Order: sequence, then C-alpha cells, then structure tokens
Amino acid sequence: MNAPTLPVAQAKYLLPASLREAADMAAQHPGSFRYVAGGTDVLVNRFQGNEDSTCLIDLGRIPALKGIARVDGHLRIGALETLDRLMKHPLVLADAPMLAEAARSVGAPLLRKTATIGGNVLCENRCLYYNQSEWWRESVGYCLKCNGDICIATGGRNACFSELVSDTAPALIALDAEIEYTEGEAVTRTPLERIYTGDGVAPRNIPPAAIVTALWLPLGRGFTWAFRKLRERQSLEFTSLTTAMTLDSGGRIKIAMAGVDPRPVVVEAAATDDPEALVRKAIKGARAIDNDMFTRLYRREMIGVYLRDSFNTVTAARM
Ligand SMILES: Cc1cc2nc3c(=O)[nH]c(=O)nc-3n(C[C@H](O)[C@H](O)[C@H](O)COP(=O)(O)OP(=O)(O)OC[C@H]3O[C@@H](n4cnc5c(N)ncnc54)[C@H](O)[C@@H]3O)c2cc1C
Ligand code: SF4
Repeated sequence: MNAPTLPVAQAKYLLPASLREAADMAAQHPGSFRYVAGGTDVLVNRFQGNEDSTCLIDLGRIPALKGIARVDGHLRIGALETLDRLMKHPLVLADAPMLAEAARSVGAPLLRKTATIGGNVLCENRCLYYNQSEWWRESVGYCLKCNGDICIATGGRNACFSELVSDTAPALIALDAEIEYTEGEAVTRTPLERIYTGDGVAPRNIPPAAIVTALWLPLGRGFTWAFRKLRERQSLEFTSLTTAMTLDSGGRIKIAMAGVDPRPVVVEAAATDDPEALVRKAIKGARAIDNDMFTRLYRREMIGVYLRDSFNTVTAARM
C-alpha cells in the first residue's frame, strides 16, 4: 500500500525583472522568502518537507545575473548561468577547464540544463538522516537540522555535520575564485571559501536577502589541476568525496574538498612539500561522520587515494 502523501507547503510565487525588484520583494517578506534559480535543490527540499518558505522569488528573469566574459583579468560568470552552459562554454573550457569538469560531474544532463552555478555553491548541505521524506524523519525522530534536539548520526546534541555537496565549490575554491553578492546598494566580493561556516544547520554566512550575482576567477595563474569525485553511480549521484587540486606557476598547491565536512576543507602547500604531510593535513581537517552511503572510514581512506593521484597529476603536467 502506498503511504499517503503529505501536503507540500503553499507559497506565493514572484518573478522580478531586476535586482532592485527582487530585493524589494525580499524586503516585503522578511524571514519568509526563498530565492529560486534553477530550483533543483529548493523544490526537492520543499517536496521532502525541508523547506517551507511562504514566498518564492524566482531570479530566472534577471539579465544582470547572466553572462560569461573576461573582465579585468578575471573570468566573470553570472550566477544564473547553467552548469550545462558552463561545461560547454569556450571561455570556461579555455580558462577554467577544471570548472567545466566539475559542472559535468553534477547530477545528470537534464538537471544540468536547469541547475545554476549560483545555486550550486549555495545548495543545502545533505545527510542520509535528513534528506528523507517527512514520514521517514518523523518515524526516526527529528534531528538538529529539523528542529530536533539530537544528531541522529552521532548521538550528540551540539553539532550537525551535514555535508557540503556542491561539486563546483571545491573546483572554484582551488582556482581562487571570489563570489560577488549584492544586498541593496552594497556589493561584496570575497573569496568563496569565506562564505561557509562549518555549521551543518546554517552552513553559509551571507546575509539572507543577499543575491549572488557572479563568480570571479583570476586569469593567467598557469594552473595545472586535478578533479576527482567519489559517488555510487557515475550516471547520477551526489558526492561522497570531491577533491580539487591546483598547482599555480609560482609552485603553490591548493586543495579544496567537499562531501566530508559541512564546509569545504581547504589545504594549501608548496609543490616541494612532502605529499604525505599534505594528505595527513587534509584527512585531519575533514570531520566526516557516518551519514553518507559510504562509511566515514572509507571516505577518509579515499582522500589519501585521490590526493596522492592528484599530486602526481598536477606535478607531472608542470614538467
Ligand atoms: C537528482 C539530483 C541530483 C543532484 N546531484 C548533484 C550533484 O551531483 N552535485 C551537486 O553539486 N549538486 C547536485 N544536486 C543538487 C542541485 O541540483 C545542484 O546543486 C544545483 O546546481 C542547484 O542549483 P539551482 O540553480 O537549481 O539551485 P536552486 O535550487 O534554485 O537554489 C539552491 C539554493 O541557492 C539559493 N540561490 C540560488 N541562486 C541564488 C542567487 N543568485 N542568489 C542568492 N541565493 C540563490 C536558493 O535560495 C537556494 O537556497 C542534485 C539534485 C538532484 C535533485
Ligand atoms: S548530521 Fe546529524 S543533525 Fe545534521 S542532518 Fe545529519 S542527523 Fe541531522
């Protein structure tokens, strides 16, 4: 017998034509709105009862959020650009091929045609015990991320370790990307890694009404790179571990990882450093718990496998 379905929360749907209009709409619905870009994260969460905003503000018609161009020594990518466009765009393929590969690793073709880069870096953290139906969560008991008082995965009462699952975020961070967002008249541009808090319940710290406008990638850094993703099915699956590594022309290595912590795990080193020390540092920084299809121990083991392999790739490409 099928379980009876629970009603999905009803919401007012608004379609602004400009950033100003979107900001005004947000101001009229403080604390009760949610921006929507491709909707592939927000709408699934609504159907699972994890998102109940009473107003949805669709950013899809705002021209200022689109465009991919070289500007001031950077590749500027509008927040509304889809992952499908990124993985095929000549400028992305020429200037940031690792980002194209990261975009290609997200979901499946249909999803990538709708999902945006802005939505991807902001997509909600996930956990095996949280991303379930309302019925399921009710039967096991609500956890810290859904107004309960205990983490089901660890039994602890203090912290949620739901995982960052964005695949483009580690690639962007390893490429030293900055995120740009507006709030009213104010425009902020900051290294992408700074927007992640490490708290699984509230994983990002940009103001609630801020609209992400673009990602900025520095050009001319001579990066060699390696991108790896661990998932159960290659065809369509969230990450269980994503690693992105770059080596710039100055000999600096930057690693960013997703899927093993509520925030991106970032490690920086010199190409001359001992790769095993780098692996140990990365594993130590990852607060992986058993809330994923793969065990915590296996994912920690795989960090070493991927990083050793990536180290060989980025250094060999430099020779
Ligand atoms: C079956 C399935 C498989 C998936 N597989 C993957 C995967 O392999 N890897 C992966 O990384 N993700 C995956 N996802 C998650 C999701 O589809 C992607 O992260 C996607 O890129 C989200 O983009 P979106 O435009 O649809 O975001 P939305 O759902 O529209 O929004 C996501 C969040 O970002 C906010 N937001 C979006 N744009 C802006 C903006 N410009 N300014 C301010 N806030 C904004 C929204 O309010 C919301 O909180 C999967 C989802 C599904 C359903
Ligand atoms: S890590 Fe714990 S608190 Fe966080 S979503 Fe999972 S079960 Fe809930």
